Order: sequence, then C-alpha cells, then structure tokens
Amino acid sequence: MSRQRAWVELDFERLEHNANEIRSILSKKTKIMAVLKANAYGHGSVEIAKECSRIGIDFFAVATINEAIELREAAIKEDILILGYTPLNMLEQIKKYDLIQTIVDFDYANRLNEMKLNIRTHVKLDTGMHRIGIQYYNEVLDVYKMKNIIVEGIYTHLCASDSNIIEDKEFTDKQINMYFKVYTQLKNEGIEPGLTHILSSYGVLNYPEIECDYVRIGNLLFGIKAFDTSTKLNLNLKPILELKTRIMSIRSIEKEETVGYNRLFCAKLNSKIATLSVGYGDGLPYNQKIEDVYVLVNNKLAKIVGKVCMDSCMIDVTGINEIHDGDEVTLICNDSQSEVSIRSIAQKCNMSTNEFLSRFTRRIEFVGE
Ligand SMILES: *Cc1c(COP(=O)(O)O)cnc(C)c1O
Repeated sequence: MSRQRAWVELDFERLEHNANEIRSILSKKTKIMAVLKANAYGHGSVEIAKECSRIGIDFFAVATINEAIELREAAIKEDILILGYTPLNMLEQIKKYDLIQTIVDFDYANRLNEMKLNIRTHVKLDTGMHRIGIQYYNEVLDVYKMKNIIVEGIYTHLCASDSNIIEDKEFTDKQINMYFKVYTQLKNEGIEPGLTHILSSYGVLNYPEIECDYVRIGNLLFGIKAFDTSTKLNLNLKPILELKTRIMSIRSIEKEETVGYNRLFCAKLNSKIATLSVGYGDGLPYNQKIEDVYVLVNNKLAKIVGKVCMDSCMIDVTGINEIHDGDEVTLICNDSQSEVSIRSIAQKCNMSTNEFLSRFTRRIEFVGE
C-alpha cells in the first residue's frame, strides 16, 4: 500500500551517480560521511541510509540521538556520529546503540568523563563558527587524556565555505589553519588524533585540496546545490527527490465563485478545480502569501489556488483534459531546470531548499527504487 496520498519518490541510481561524482574529486584516502539529519533533509533517512550503505558509504552523521536510534533500529550497522548535543540522561543510549557522540565543549567532556561510560566520541573544534566545539588547544589536549571517554576523531565546521567574498575566504583559511595547527600540536605531543574531517558540501567544491579522512556531505548527495554562488569545482549532480500526491476530487465552478478557506481565490472564468491529498500537515510551507506556485498534472503546469489546507489543497486545472480522480500530481520534480524544481519552489517560498525539505512531516511516505 504505497503511493496513496502524498509521498517522496527517490531515484537511487541518481544517488549513486551523485556519490560517484563527489568521489571523483576526493583524494584517494578521503571517504564520504553521509549527513542524514532532519530525516535526511526530508528524503527519508532510513531509505537513504540503506542505499548509502549498499553503495559503500560506511559512516553516517545525524543531529540527534533519536535520529541515530532510528537508523540503528532499521538495522543500519555503520558508524553513526551525533553532530549535536545529547542530554546527559540519555548517554547510556549512546553506549547501548554503539553511537559516537560529539564533544560539544570542554564542560561536556568533563561530564562524560565523570560518568565513566567509556562512550566513543569525536572532538569538535570551534575554529570560528562559535556554535559548538572546544576553542582552546589545552582543553583539546586534556580531553584526549581523559581516561573514561574514547576519542576517535577530531573535526570542525566551516561557516562561510560557500562564499566568494575575499574576507570570508580569508576567514575560512584561518579556520582551516587553526584546525591543522591543533592537529599537529597533538601529534607533537605524541597523541594520535584519530579520524579527521572538516569539509561539508560547499567546502568540497571550494577547498578540494584539503585532505582528511572524511567529508561530511548532505546537499551534494541529494543532488542539490542550495545557492547560485559559483564554486571552484562543479559537479554534474542530479536531484534525487520528487514529491508527489494524487487528485482526490475534481469539480467545475462558475465564474466568480470562490475556492477554499476565507474565499481567497475567485474564479475569473468558469473553471475546473482539482483537490490534492497533500497540505500543510504534510509539511508544505505554502501560506496565503505564496503566489504562482505550480504543480505538474499530465506534464502540464497547474496553479495552486486558495489557501492550502491541513490535509489538502486545490489547483486550477481549467483546460487540462484527460484527468481523473486518483491521477498522480508532481509537486516537486527532479529536473533542476523545471518550474517545479526544488530550487524554484523554495525560492518562491522565500526559503532555502534545506528549510523547505526538512519541513516534511511523518505523514509523507518514502519510496525508493
Ligand atoms: C548539516 C551539516 C553538514 C552537511 O552540510 P551540507 O552542506 O548539507 O553538506 C556537515 N557538517 C555539519 C556539522 C552539519 O551540521
């Protein structure tokens, strides 16, 4: 019973293609860590993880412990790094599910050490983003010397790796230099720092010369370039996601009749209206301010009219023939040039593609092939 109401359709051939594109610009020793936070950016983390694992990706990252547990319960065996904070009363779960916790700051490391759980960790280094991470070398050194935690890696996050502004590039270079300085100091101290990783999607495209053990990739795997800014390298990436729904009912209305809550749409002509089984309860961010958002019916563009409801929305299908209840409708297609590409739709909603996609709710089904 799939593809009933509203679903995300994943093209796994494209996922593999994207992974190979990314691999083609990485050094021999560098591997992809797939970032699957927020339900893999709305793509369905279990479905994506299984496929990533099939194509040889051996490390995953998520934001929260619940996201990690979801993967383990779906029989994902690879290493899983939690990028965010885990409350101390949940740390036993880290152990139980054999997860890797990020050291978010020095206090946190001390707490973990006191709890004597011997959990696996990666140290996060704050090189300038000032979100999470340890800022000082001496503290990093202390963490590596702690007896009751296992430190398996050290990483940092760049906060402007997508930018072409000269000051941002200088800042990014400083972040990278600080990271390697700490790394070298640890080595000089006789400490083995473990796995290294710095770059995420835009970092890989703009700073490909940096060699670490892993790159942490979300966007590029899903075939999405989130911004228009030019990058040093370009890859031929293909979006892997389509969002689809079905027509649940079709009706004719007369000129000057209205559609939906608060009667926001008024027909200029006698019109044909189709109701779709998808709404804001599925994660569509459309509100009454959104204009000119289209969907594809029978390969023709049809406009969303009136206010989007919780479980449904209406489109104007006047002039589109040969449509019936139950027909498939595409809200987001995987052609990046299309009027209904994720880029174009997110832009109309005044949000990033990441924000748009991560709003999808549990009601959406995930189907891949
Ligand atoms: C989300 C995230 C990533 C992945 O970013 P993309 O731009 O989607 O590749 C990598 N590292 C950290 C710390 C993140 O939070």
